[in-house]
Amino acid sequence: MRIDQHPLPAGSSNCQYSLSSFHFGQPGAKKVYLQASLHADELPGMLVLHHLRALLERAEAEGRLQGEIVLVPVANPIGLSQTFMHDQMGRFDFASGTNFNRGFPDLSEPMIALLADALGDDAQQNVGLIRAAMRQLLDAAECRTPLDGMRIGLMRLAHDADIVLDLHCDCEGVMHIYAPSDHVAEAGRLGCYLGARVLLIADAIGGGCFDEMLFKPWLRLRARFGAQFPVPQSCFASTVELRGEQDVSHQLASADALGIYHYLCGAGLIAGAVAPPPAAVCVPTPLAGSVTACAAEPGVISYVARPGDVLKSGDVICDIVDPLSGGSYAVTSPIDGVMYSRVIFRYATRGMELAKIAGKTERRSGNLLGP
Ligand SMILES: [Zn+2]
Repeated sequence: MRIDQHPLPAGSSNCQYSLSSFHFGQPGAKKVYLQASLHADELPGMLVLHHLRALLERAEAEGRLQGEIVLVPVANPIGLSQTFMHDQMGRFDFASGTNFNRGFPDLSEPMIALLADALGDDAQQNVGLIRAAMRQLLDAAECRTPLDGMRIGLMRLAHDADIVLDLHCDCEGVMHIYAPSDHVAEAGRLGCYLGARVLLIADAIGGGCFDEMLFKPWLRLRARFGAQFPVPQSCFASTVELRGEQDVSHQLASADALGIYHYLCGAGLIAGAVAPPPAAVCVPTPLAGSVTACAAEPGVISYVARPGDVLKSGDVICDIVDPLSGGSYAVTSPIDGVMYSRVIFRYATRGMELAKIAGKTERRSGNLLGP
């Protein structure tokens, strides 16, 4: 295993962050990239990569690695250092107010321009050309701020990987996975090993998420050149939501790390017997079919439904009590589906998001994630 350091542009005198990447195996064959805690207060993935690292060190010592596996356990050193009045604040950048998992650069159009006269009839050669074009643009990207440098640095580490897993978590939630439609089966296999309760499928998420900005160029290139030249979708980039913020324990993390390890064995990265995937416990549903229940009036939240509950339209999610009038009302599920997450707060302001339910029918369009 090799550890590389990637210093970010210094934002202030004597204050410089860096990314640390852990490289297992050898480049050349398949590549897998995993990062944790891009939303820096979402910590389950950090502990999962700690456990995965031990498994990979053993596999490497036994000579069983058949590709390159890169781990970035602290994907967001900027956010990890942000605290405000004793609270860790890792979702939004204090300096710019932006969400750490939005605003990654969309390289689709510049890549189309670079590759207009370069692609040919050899699919594998095209994959190499596409990755080289992406690298060229990332190397030339202007990094005005430490945050720019972090976003470009993460993309540079991940851009040529066949599999990219961005490990996040929800507020309170069950295991769920976001994936593009080209890779529903791949996400399904991963989901089996992790016991995912929901698979959310979308090709156009919106907002410039890390995973989307890695798989989108391949979709756009195929749409532009696919009729003339083979453009295989060669980047399975997925966001994995490892339950809730408080679900950080050796027991969960070691089991999740083993699930990912088995998935990587099945994907051909690690030689040896492949553990068969456990049976799926969910079916893929469109991200556009996920609906968020909100508070109509303010008050204290008393939850009735728990993450993972299968709800019918009209089933009660929670009661909200007005502490002054003594009145209360029930918030109900607007659709049939799996309630896969709920907020960690227990006081609702008017309009506040309370819980997400994954339904089978597409109901939304445009930007499918919130800020
Ligand atoms: Zn997140």
